[in-house]
Amino acid sequence: MTKYIYEFGPKRTEGDATQKNLLGGKGANLAEMATLGLPVPPGFTISTECCNHYFDLGKRFPDTLEVEVTCAMENIEKQMDMKFGDKNNPLLVSCRSGARSSMPGMMETILNVGLCSTTIPGLIAKTGNEWFVFDAYRRLIMMYSDVVMEKAEQIKPADGMGIRLHLEMMMNNLKNDKGYDNDTDISTEDMKTLCARFKKKIHEYLNVEFPDDPQEQLMGAIGAVFKSWNGRRALSYRRIEHIPDNWGTAVNVQTMVFGNMGETSATGVAFSRDPATGNNTFYGEWLINAQGEDVVAGIRTPNPLNNDTKNSQNRHLPSLEEAMPKLYAQLFDIRNILEAHYRDMQDIEFTIQEGHLYMLQCRVGKRTATAALNMAMDMYEQGMIDEKTMVCRLDPKVLDDLLHPIVDPAVEKTAVKVVEGLPAGPGGAWGQIVFSSEDAVRWAKSDKRVILVREETNPEDIEGMRSAAAVLTARGGMTSHAALVARGWGKCCIVGAGAMKINTETKELRVGSRVFHEGDFITLNGTKGVVYEGRLKMKDALENPRFQQFMTIADSFRTMEVRTNVDTPEDAKIALGFGAQGIGLFRTEHMFYGSDSDHPLFLLRKMILSKSKEERQVALDELFPFVKQEISATLLVMDNLPVTLRLLDPPLHEFVPQSLENQQEIANALGIDLEEVLKRSALLKESNPMIGHRGVRLGITFPEITRMQVTAIFEACAELIQTGKHPLPEIMVPVTCNEKELEFTHKIVNECHGAILNKYGIQALPYQFGTMIEIPRAALIADKMAKYAQFFSFGTNDLTQMTFGFSRDDIGSFMNDYIDNAILSFDPFETLDQEAVGSLIEIAVERGRKTRPDIKLGICGEHGGDPASVMFCHRAGLSYVSCSPYRIPIARLAAAQAAILN
Ligand code: ADP
Ligand code: MG
Ligand code: MG
Repeated sequence: MTKYIYEFGPKRTEGDATQKNLLGGKGANLAEMATLGLPVPPGFTISTECCNHYFDLGKRFPDTLEVEVTCAMENIEKQMDMKFGDKNNPLLVSCRSGARSSMPGMMETILNVGLCSTTIPGLIAKTGNEWFVFDAYRRLIMMYSDVVMEKAEQIKPADGMGIRLHLEMMMNNLKNDKGYDNDTDISTEDMKTLCARFKKKIHEYLNVEFPDDPQEQLMGAIGAVFKSWNGRRALSYRRIEHIPDNWGTAVNVQTMVFGNMGETSATGVAFSRDPATGNNTFYGEWLINAQGEDVVAGIRTPNPLNNDTKNSQNRHLPSLEEAMPKLYAQLFDIRNILEAHYRDMQDIEFTIQEGHLYMLQCRVGKRTATAALNMAMDMYEQGMIDEKTMVCRLDPKVLDDLLHPIVDPAVEKTAVKVVEGLPAGPGGAWGQIVFSSEDAVRWAKSDKRVILVREETNPEDIEGMRSAAAVLTARGGMTSHAALVARGWGKCCIVGAGAMKINTETKELRVGSRVFHEGDFITLNGTKGVVYEGRLKMKDALENPRFQQFMTIADSFRTMEVRTNVDTPEDAKIALGFGAQGIGLFRTEHMFYGSDSDHPLFLLRKMILSKSKEERQVALDELFPFVKQEISATLLVMDNLPVTLRLLDPPLHEFVPQSLENQQEIANALGIDLEEVLKRSALLKESNPMIGHRGVRLGITFPEITRMQVTAIFEACAELIQTGKHPLPEIMVPVTCNEKELEFTHKIVNECHGAILNKYGIQALPYQFGTMIEIPRAALIADKMAKYAQFFSFGTNDLTQMTFGFSRDDIGSFMNDYIDNAILSFDPFETLDQEAVGSLIEIAVERGRKTRPDIKLGICGEHGGDPASVMFCHRAGLSYVSCSPYRIPIARLAAAQAAILN
């Protein structure tokens, strides 16, 4: 019999923080806090395994579950000296979702389960607080009808609204009619009537009665939490975050504690350090007389926890430190206990019931990139963590944010301010205003940068938030949904800009007398919380000395080198600034694309359209000085560092002139007529150019093309050597699948090398000869390839293309369907497919080394800048990864972490 239930609480706790896979993050940490002796209301966790079995059984509970639940409930009842469903002393519980990793607001939680016509009078008698009981009941009705009766049943509301919205509207209408500002102002009588009306509405709208049996409520809630794992929001969040579908969620059933029992009760959320800056100050928000969801939902502006948390929006509200000093001191102690125990910043939920503090959740808190860096360095300097832990604390992906733009402070001084809010997500961003998540997605698809402006965001907005350059909301605090999600993604975000009046119908945003429309440009400074008019200039984040220090420590652990993919001396310089240790891929053909490429491109075309060897040689001779000059300039910047120069790679037809003017020009240059040019161009047309006459194949047909390039490389080197430089060229042959191709090419290279030594009268001109491994066949016969190749560079873009048989230029039309249908959990062109492409690399490494033990191995595809792929490269034993300049810090950190973790 599988054990599905694990208890936690002051008396008996079965799990601990290491069991996140089984108990989910929330359950594992509740158990850990209970063991630490913190005041956790008793409860139990139903495992993620049970969730998976539930789905395997076609959304049915395993047979033994209900008995196990009943047993576990009895244990809670004993501890609490209360009884679930009892008419005098009723126990109420919450049913809380909790997956392995936190998915903020993506799944469901239901509070106050067990309230019904039998238990309501008892609870009123016991607490003497009728208002509280009906407030709790209306919350149960709202949550339960929405989550259990509608969403879990997959009912698509015909009117597009859904029961929750209807109930919220009823409550708002009541508040308006009676002039109540806050939920807490609603009278007991009105609350009671509201509950009755709610139940009537539910019956009308969903055609079923609201369940009045506690056991039915409990099992219904448990099933609904399981089902929320496969809810639409949770699914799209998992796609974005690459979370596997088979993790499942746990359900935590926990004794209710009530923050809504009056003025001595409260609820709040806190971070053990400031999640925006990383400052070592306790940070949080709380609400008096409220239940947990209220703080996150942004219903009222929450109070500041303490002085450190005061800001322009909440300065007038009393802090917990001021209002309940004793409880604040207790909470502060708990903060210290948790930090010392977890040795990381904690995000905690607490509730105060009539002067008693309870802990309801803790987890490692989401933070901005800046905060992550500062906390890691601070904790290391405080002796809380060691160097290795510090290096692993920064997710390589967030480096993007650290290095990414901020609003140029010089421009900001004179910019026109629109409104201020809370700085919820870091950095700066400009974009065009849109008012709905759908519009954000649509506009972004047509390559517009948008700022999603909302009253407040909810989990339904997730895709719009993702598409937007930044998010701006009128309501909500630093722990609101928008803030939490934005921070997790490192997205620029401002919340609680209360002066904004948003009209989603007319698509207008008003601040005072000023009006902004959809499509207007605004700029956000998410680090300060200020919104400006128009599109302000951005600036790269400064050379932060703390960041440099961090990277120096990280580099000391790294064993793989990090090189860069660049084609110009300018980019090479930028790459050196980011710490490149050489060039892993220099694409010769790029000199025919970029700026100043007109003339070389013309000469290349002339060469391509030449018919005889003589004609071609003339064109090659004219091209030669350009190729030599480009290579020489880059080798000079990278003096003393290896530079992998790839021989001409792309399909020739890419260079065939298309316009009449260009065609005529070539005709004149070759002394032939236009018709002949067209005829020769037509001959170059291929059905499958990607796997056509390109790469090494070109050099087999036209050895003079190889000869020209290699001579250019060696002459450039010879001349640099004569001026006292140390060029380290590595000649790389692309698109090979056979060792004879390498033998053939190597012979040419050797001849040219000898000729240049002679010509310049120099003793030595060191170089390496190698190949790209980008065709599966080449990987499989790597032992043979290594006879000639002194190095392999895995061209993982093409290797992925040819392993999957996916054309990388055409996947756009179907990749989303693969992801949506969970056929692939990631795009293999973004993250290396370790299963098959990775196997090919491992095979090539092993076989290549058999022939040549000291063979140099690297990767030069886009994957070289993807942290997960870098980790793989380390495990596969590669000597270096190569990536675009801006991704170098990411690759450096990922490589350091790979070395530490392996
Ligand atoms: P989420 O994962 O969305 O944060 P939670 O399960 O943490 O959902 O619950 C939502 C809110 O309800 C939180 O503020 C939490 O503290 C509160 N809550 C959950 N269980 C209880 C309980 N047993 N007693 C009081 N408040 C609770
Ligand atoms: Mg929570
Ligand atoms: Mg290629």
